Amino acid sequence: MLGAIEAGGTKFVCAVGDETGGIVERIQIPTTVPSETIPQVVAFFRKFQIEAIGIGSFGPIDVNLDSTTYGNITSTPKLGWKDYPFVQELRKALEVPVGFNTDVNAAALGEANFGAAKGLDSCLYITVGTGIGAGAVVQGKLLQGLSHPEMGHILVRRHPEDHYTGKCPYHGDCLEGLAAGPAIEDRWGAKGVELVGRAEVWDMEGYYIAQALMHYILILSPKKIILGGGVMNQEQVFSSVYKYLPELLNGYVTLPNLPDYIVSPGLGDNAGVVGSLLLAKNALQKNG
Ligand code: ADP
Ligand code: ZN
Repeated sequence: MLGAIEAGGTKFVCAVGDETGGIVERIQIPTTVPSETIPQVVAFFRKFQIEAIGIGSFGPIDVNLDSTTYGNITSTPKLGWKDYPFVQELRKALEVPVGFNTDVNAAALGEANFGAAKGLDSCLYITVGTGIGAGAVVQGKLLQGLSHPEMGHILVRRHPEDHYTGKCPYHGDCLEGLAAGPAIEDRWGAKGVELVGRAEVWDMEGYYIAQALMHYILILSPKKIILGGGVMNQEQVFSSVYKYLPELLNGYVTLPNLPDYIVSPGLGDNAGVVGSLLLAKNALQKNG
């Protein structure tokens, strides 16, 4: 039996299951401060005989195995989580190997093995929610360099009618600053769900996401692009992306039929947690 945690800014999804992505039991725990959240996480896993645990975490996180702070959450503004030694604490409490990566890398791994990119050795998973982030499987492996990629903070060309300043605390009007859920709310003065009938909102959203996808396609050439996160519940954004992306690429690269190429997660809300089961499996193999 393997354990999995999808650690998000608002909730932790904890699950036990197996390496085929099958989930036996799953619970949600609110993300408050580590001293409250982590004991509940540990208590859940202690009910089972788990052999390893995988964590797909919000970030930024330290994924560099050679680093002295490997396994820590690094520069989050979330109270109590900055510099939290996530891997170390769980290893100590549960005494099993711990796999650790970003939430979006875990989701990409889950989708490549059992979801919309099943059978492919390459895919990109992007979440458009409270923030924007992306994970990538490249030649069958999770993309990692000095650290994990941070594809949500790229710069995009402004929509001519967009005068919103941007919400990213680091860059102002980067992609996340212009197109994540909180930026939509701020710009238009209402929650995403309340803006369903405002076509211009979702057209602009697709305008930005299409630009991001253009960059990702030109740099990584993924075999499948999966778009998840709360904002992508608006089907209109997909339509807008399908409209703008060909205009931007202007025939330079040949892509599959866009509605087959740029899709929703095949695993739905479980992409991250299923991917985390695979991170657990990898951690077990490394230790075995
Ligand atoms: P998180 O990123 O915290 O894991 P979500 O992926 O659910 O969570 O993203 C939350 C963001 O998505 C919020 O800003 C919310 O307003 C937005 N959102 C959620 N559902 C919808 C929807 N149906 N339409 C538009 N925006 C939505
Ligand atoms: Zn930014």
